[in-house]
Amino acid sequence: MGSVGEPTLNDSAKGLDYEVLVIGAGLSGIFSLYRLRELGFRARVLEAGSGAGGTWYWNRYPGARFDSESYSYQFTFSQEVLDEWDWTEHFAGQPEILAYINFLCDKFDLRSDIQFHTKVTTAHFDQSNNSWRVLDDAGKQYTCRWLVTAIGFLSAPTLPNIPGVHDFKREAHHTSRWPQHPVTYEGKRVGLIGTGATGIQCIQEIAKTVGHLTVFQRTPNWAVPLHNSPIDKDEMSAIRADYPALFDRCRRSYMNFLHMPETRALSEVSQEEREAFWENLYDNGRGFRLWLSNYRDVAFDKEANKICSDWVADKIRQRVKDPATAERLIPRNHGFGTKRVPMETNYYEAYNQSNVRLVDVTETPIEQITATGIRTSKEEIELDMLIYATGFDAVTGAFDAMDIRGLDGLRLQDRWEGSPRTYVGMTVDGFPNMFMSMGPHQSYGNIPRSIEYAVNWITDALAHFREKDIVYVEATAEGVEMWTEHVIDAAKGSLANEVDSWMTGINRNLPGKQRRIINRYTGSAPGFRGFCDGIAGGGYSTFKLA
Ligand code: NAP
Repeated sequence: MGSVGEPTLNDSAKGLDYEVLVIGAGLSGIFSLYRLRELGFRARVLEAGSGAGGTWYWNRYPGARFDSESYSYQFTFSQEVLDEWDWTEHFAGQPEILAYINFLCDKFDLRSDIQFHTKVTTAHFDQSNNSWRVLDDAGKQYTCRWLVTAIGFLSAPTLPNIPGVHDFKREAHHTSRWPQHPVTYEGKRVGLIGTGATGIQCIQEIAKTVGHLTVFQRTPNWAVPLHNSPIDKDEMSAIRADYPALFDRCRRSYMNFLHMPETRALSEVSQEEREAFWENLYDNGRGFRLWLSNYRDVAFDKEANKICSDWVADKIRQRVKDPATAERLIPRNHGFGTKRVPMETNYYEAYNQSNVRLVDVTETPIEQITATGIRTSKEEIELDMLIYATGFDAVTGAFDAMDIRGLDGLRLQDRWEGSPRTYVGMTVDGFPNMFMSMGPHQSYGNIPRSIEYAVNWITDALAHFREKDIVYVEATAEGVEMWTEHVIDAAKGSLANEVDSWMTGINRNLPGKQRRIINRYTGSAPGFRGFCDGIAGGGYSTFKLA
């Protein structure tokens, strides 16, 4: 591992504070730091929070946990960590996930190069010496040759655009800005807005202890059972012995997950066969299996999708006692799996409790959030606590929150004009020496798998540039055009791209985010890696290098 703070022999960044600045100490940021040190770079991470972890630092809401198998959602870069870290649940809860991240930070002494409580406000490219000038919210300036954004794509939370949203005088939290102190629900009247993956995890947990919970739902989602269970020592040993095969399966799968798609189409099997198949996945299939190991045409063919959606709708009807509530919980405007499927444990059963009530705001819209509760078109509901599980300004929101300027003062926000344009999701023309881990148009899927690839690719590239004394790297306009068109082409035919969600750039709370766009790469992850490997193998000659 390279020593920290000491300029390396090949230091191409003399006179600058750092060779590399990384914004964000989530999974992308901490792995970037690990790799940059290993390669001997003088690097620093700037992080707004008081601790590392990013998503898993901020999202401390009740019930927050992995929806992907814990062991598939960990880093693979260190055999020692793989040997030492035991998971206690198939889908670990947020405290265990944060403990894992802190274990990594301790083991590799990462915190000594992470500057906490430092929110980056500005990053401007300085053409006079091919460097970035970065400012934090305290006005402190940092200079570097290479800028790596590791800011997450679900990290800029949004509140609902409901009148009075700032008027509520009692306890109120956005799920993604959950306090670090314990929050209790006993005896309290809690209101919760939002029924995405976050809201669903939160509702099923709070329902266990709450005085009374009112869920305000605009759009229901197709949630299916998570099938979490503890992992004992013996099972952990067996899982660990299987790590090489497990990671290999992730590498070969379309979105880096453990689950492989069913090779048959729905039309190739009988009704009895498909129902038995779904029944088995619904009752026994862990995590995303019903979504990702479904018949191959369910994601593309409207008829196949409808048959599957109708089958899942019947499951909801079987689980929710009140027929009117069950009907309200069945999505009508999108088919099963066309949005990221939320995972649940007794979510639907929560609505069978006498102290949990569903308010469908398409029937009785929220007119006003008041100092003491919520007024709908029908009634005034008094609340002691209000929870916003209302999502994010996804993918580009964290970029828009900073004033990022490239050549000739060009603002990134203007370059993208509401729809991102990138070269392999990691670079943008006009923004030299800037690299994005989990930027728009990257393959997301199982995020740590994607992060490991992106960070390795970026840091290998930086090592190459240093070796060749290259101090200026910029994506070409042709490269950006080609990749952006490819991203749009790859999305064609998928039903998910015809549906409004954060994945298609829609956020109805933000006036500028109501036009459907393609903001992530939906082609295969192996294909993505193959393409990026080709760029590296070609000596990065598809970039402008100087
Ligand atoms: P989301 O999917 O965007 O859901 C936001 C919810 O808030 C939606 O139900 C939305 O309704 C509702 N909402 C927003 N504004 C509203 C308004 N003005 N009035 C009424 N309802 C409003 O956000 P999320 O649930 O935080 O999930 C985002 C993503 O985070 C997930 O898709 C997933 O990728 C990730 N996530 C991962 C995990 C995990 O891995 N364990 C857990 C949670 C989340 P509409 O649909 O009608 O807009």
